[in-house]
Amino acid sequence: MHAEIRSQIGSRARTSSTGWIEVITGSMFSGKTEELIRRMRRAQIAKQSCLLVKPALDTRYSTDHVVSHNQERFPSIPLKRIQDLYNIVEDHQVVGIDEAQFFEKDLPEVCGRLADKGIRVIVAGLDQDYRGRPFHPIPELMAIAEYVTKQLAICTQCGRPAHMNQRLVNSEEQLLLGAMDAYEARCRSCYKWPPESAIRP
Ligand SMILES: [Zn+2]
Repeated sequence: MHAEIRSQIGSRARTSSTGWIEVITGSMFSGKTEELIRRMRRAQIAKQSCLLVKPALDTRYSTDHVVSHNQERFPSIPLKRIQDLYNIVEDHQVVGIDEAQFFEKDLPEVCGRLADKGIRVIVAGLDQDYRGRPFHPIPELMAIAEYVTKQLAICTQCGRPAHMNQRLVNSEEQLLLGAMDAYEARCRSCYKWPPESAIRP
């Protein structure tokens, strides 16, 4: 898979030595992956070599693509550990990371090192968990990033801008993968815990 992506995007020498970190964050259903794919596509159009990775545990739609809710797709490589990125980054100019909240605490350090090497690093990830708590290590990454875009969804209850992830099933697991039906976007005043109180009769 890895070789296939490389052949698709080619391997070009970097023209700039200035790297930086961009974070696209916000709640579920706020279009983070869509925005990540949009930025990767624009870089590709400019003939920059792009590499997109995601956590190996996130295989909800596809193992070798990142897929947004609106079915936009971009080839990606699943990684077990974010450190594995060092082995495959080679001379790519742009590195995208989707669902980055599922990587371990080393994420900010790895992104910082790549940016220091001159790579544009674009990271999409949740900033809050299902209880509205900071979802580490995204807040730490936001602190060291040059650019942070916080996106909002639309509250399913009242239609106002929403920044929280309402879980609709009673589970205290931080990760509930493959269970998109178990969530909806809510604003601060419509968010409820425990989930039983959130479900309308
Ligand atoms: Zn609301």
